[in-house]
Amino acid sequence: MANKDDRAFHEPRDPDRRNLLLASLLAGAAGLSVAPAQAAVAPTDVKKLQKSKRYIVKNAIILTVDSAVGDFEKADMLVENGKIKAIAPSLSVSPETLVIDGTNRILIPGFVDTHSHSYQGLLRGLLPNGVVLPDYDRDIQKNITPHYTANDAYQGVLITALGFLDLGTTSMIDISQVSHSRAHVEANIQALKDSGMRSVFAMSRGIGADSQYPDGMNSLLPAYFSSQDQLLTPALAVSVEKDTFLSARQYGLKAVLHIRVNSAPLIALSQAGVLRDGDLFVHCAHLNKDAWKIIHDTGGRTSHSPVVEMAMGHGYPAIQDALDAGARPSLSCDHAATVGMDMFGMMRAVFDIQRLAIQQRQRNGEKETQKLLTCREVLQFATLNGARAAGLDHKIGSLTPGKDADFLMLRADDLSIWPLNNAYSAAVNLMSAGHIEGVFVAGKVKKWQGRLIDVDKAKVLREVAQSRDNVLQKAKFAIGLTA
Ligand SMILES: [Zn+2]
Repeated sequence: MANKDDRAFHEPRDPDRRNLLLASLLAGAAGLSVAPAQAAVAPTDVKKLQKSKRYIVKNAIILTVDSAVGDFEKADMLVENGKIKAIAPSLSVSPETLVIDGTNRILIPGFVDTHSHSYQGLLRGLLPNGVVLPDYDRDIQKNITPHYTANDAYQGVLITALGFLDLGTTSMIDISQVSHSRAHVEANIQALKDSGMRSVFAMSRGIGADSQYPDGMNSLLPAYFSSQDQLLTPALAVSVEKDTFLSARQYGLKAVLHIRVNSAPLIALSQAGVLRDGDLFVHCAHLNKDAWKIIHDTGGRTSHSPVVEMAMGHGYPAIQDALDAGARPSLSCDHAATVGMDMFGMMRAVFDIQRLAIQQRQRNGEKETQKLLTCREVLQFATLNGARAAGLDHKIGSLTPGKDADFLMLRADDLSIWPLNNAYSAAVNLMSAGHIEGVFVAGKVKKWQGRLIDVDKAKVLREVAQSRDNVLQKAKFAIGLTA
């Protein structure tokens, strides 16, 4: 579970605060202040927002996911040159600062998805009732993936990234299993850059003789990753073979490994001394206690894809195992061939399955069980833990002055949310992507008033459909819209 400090953080610190809240609710019940306040300023012009290097969100509810900063029932957040400059109940700013009205808006950090095979954006919903073995393995990995051209990889990654931004996911770890050639890798990277989202590119083994895995990193690192001050950072997807970890070590990269059910390979890798702090382990379903101790003791991070794991047969989501081992789980979609990429859905799944399991044990007579997850902990999984898993928690994952301004503005004065009684409950368990009013990456607006900015949607849809047709025709894979 979260440590005691984390758990205490979301309790009202001031015993009078709960009474104040009660008083304001009673005032509302007396008809004094029941309606959402009127906007204090005119709706912000998106063109002005795009140009602005300095803006302030006024009077918002702010869930910072930073225990040192705390949360705010009503505060202002100042953004300057892409970074969070200040958060406080009432900030005074110069008259030329652009003001965004945050009344009845909840600010949270942008979501971080820590395991996405983004090239599969072309294959959304392709396996409506699929399982990992045999369907996914046979149809997607063995049949369809080898037919991708570099342009198909570009189109798949681009639409995945744009979809993420639309859903409030501002960062992802892209585990590229389409690195068939240098051209494929460059197209994949270009799509990540063109999308405007923050991403970790984890090069994986491609298919065919032209794959440059892993030696291609030699020239990719100086060509694409020489700056620390950019949205794109590198990692290396590895297998259980020791040499792939040694390659990650050679290039100084985070190793990203799919592992589940069989703990023996992880134990062998540990004995070989190749694991390092920051390595990321994906799925982790049904690992034994020794494997979990290794993950904890070596500083490993974990990524869980609860929805895919439940639907497609990867195993029981290992959220409780991770918590028991002292790991800080992060969340991921894996791919969208069978279930979606939506972080709201993943937060809900984790909240529900952990609580179901614990309460079922209590119902069966167990007296000493772990605590039930809270909404606050689940929001941390989707944001700060994700940033930590991506090696980016010094930059993003919480609304902390000095960090990059990756954040979401959620609309609470909606017929499906109002009245707002608890912001954590609203953000984690009541909302969906339809409540996202604004998405910001490094201070830049990506979605405003519910619409993605600067995306030629018709062109993207047309080109993605062409690439989808291309790969499926070559793979002789028939789709049926109503099948
Ligand atoms: Zn995967």
